Amino acid sequence: MIVSTFGFAGTTGSPSFVRVELRFERGILFRISGFSSQAAKASHARIRSALISCGQRWPGKAITVNLAPAELSRTSTSFDLPIVLAILASRGVITPTALTHIASAGELGLDGSIRPWQTSIFENPLSLTSQLSDSNKIKTLISPPLNGYSEPRYPHETFTHLSNLIAYLKSSSSQTLSNSIFLPKTSSKSTIPIQNEITFDNIQGEETAKRMAIISAAGSHDLIMLGPPGSGKTVLAKCIHSLLPDLSQKSHSECTSIHAAAGHLFNPNSKRPPWQAPHSSTNLNGLIGSWSNLKSRGVIPGAWSLAHNGVLFLDEFAEFSRGTLEACRAPLESHTISLVRAAGSSELPASALLIAALNPCPCGRGTGRSKSCSCQEGEIKRYLRKISGPVADRIAIHLELGHENTDHSYTHISSNSIPWKEARKTVARVRKWYLEHPGDDRFLQGPQITSKAADLLRSCRKVLKLSHRGLHHVRSVALTSALVDKSPAIEVEHLAEAGTSRLFDRKTWLR
Ligand SMILES: [Zn+2]
Repeated sequence: MIVSTFGFAGTTGSPSFVRVELRFERGILFRISGFSSQAAKASHARIRSALISCGQRWPGKAITVNLAPAELSRTSTSFDLPIVLAILASRGVITPTALTHIASAGELGLDGSIRPWQTSIFENPLSLTSQLSDSNKIKTLISPPLNGYSEPRYPHETFTHLSNLIAYLKSSSSQTLSNSIFLPKTSSKSTIPIQNEITFDNIQGEETAKRMAIISAAGSHDLIMLGPPGSGKTVLAKCIHSLLPDLSQKSHSECTSIHAAAGHLFNPNSKRPPWQAPHSSTNLNGLIGSWSNLKSRGVIPGAWSLAHNGVLFLDEFAEFSRGTLEACRAPLESHTISLVRAAGSSELPASALLIAALNPCPCGRGTGRSKSCSCQEGEIKRYLRKISGPVADRIAIHLELGHENTDHSYTHISSNSIPWKEARKTVARVRKWYLEHPGDDRFLQGPQITSKAADLLRSCRKVLKLSHRGLHHVRSVALTSALVDKSPAIEVEHLAEAGTSRLFDRKTWLR
């Protein structure tokens, strides 16, 4: 019996469907027409091991695979999937008729995993669609997660393991499969738990911190906070995430592509921005990303890119390794990550809002002035110096928690509580303004700085010994503060708020 199904050929430009025919014969040979014996051997090894890993028996027969039309490129490893499906159909594990409506592509791992692939087949949906209507046969596309940063605009089924795929094909009747064309399949599975919304109601007092959370979310200003355990650092970070508006279609697609490159699915049913909170033991590759050892996989995004368009929360910031901390400089500055290796470089999007948190001292109980703290001044200095000047300088807002009603309470907002709904609306309004006013022109188009505020900015620069970058942060945060207040101008209080949020510049004991 000859079983046939479809695969794809051509990895860029316009992909074409390839008919994959398979037949069992007497003997033990495994042949793929047009493939070199070496490529066929490698394919045979992968398919055999993957099948055995999924609890399937390897047929004790010779297998001949024919790919048509003959002139298409045959160097691809993406025929593993159609071949293995044809083998399963020949053995009666799945219905052969179901396969005639399926086009699949993907490389198998020895353990049965279906490897993500770097291909732009789905980037050209028009060419694929026209072929579909021509052939009028293929109803379902099956692929591994796309390993690229392109938007998967073409509805298709995605699987990461052969055993899932077999289960899916067994449970779907050929009727279902033939009707699934152009129906984007949504999944309830998500790699990101849909968290219950954390709001300001979860924080007692700390009006300064709440105000800065709104400013951070509204202006996409990275934030670092210092506070003893239990002072609400994590809750505040979650509030900032909850304040962010839902993802646009474009942002959602970007997140989907990045998560696909990491080998998992970005929740198609949720519009909430991503939230990543890697542990402080996470290494450089885990945070920034890395090149895969496998040629076909390319780059693997780190937590920073996975948090693109959302929040990256780094708790116990001082506990991250020095190298990892220093690597934060580039994404903080450019919102992209460049991964370089001998064979070339790759750029990953990394426009995440960084929220970093750390204890005020190694024991966590105080800043050295607190009676309960047992740390020596030298220890505290060493601990805080783990956050280098260049890294702290790149973070716009520095905040101290657990110091209400002290000299660190610098907000001009004295209201007891900021209504949550109001806060979300404000953030959405200001973010919209920023989208409409990109680049540094916003300083000319937005609220203008008053002469008194300008004086304060100058003295701020002197007193805090602000760097050029630090000064830019103060101006930006003051602008957001004015926008949040719907103020027609940047007043002294907006500037004071921005200036006093340069904690690491103020901490003279850090110098
Ligand atoms: Zn201490």
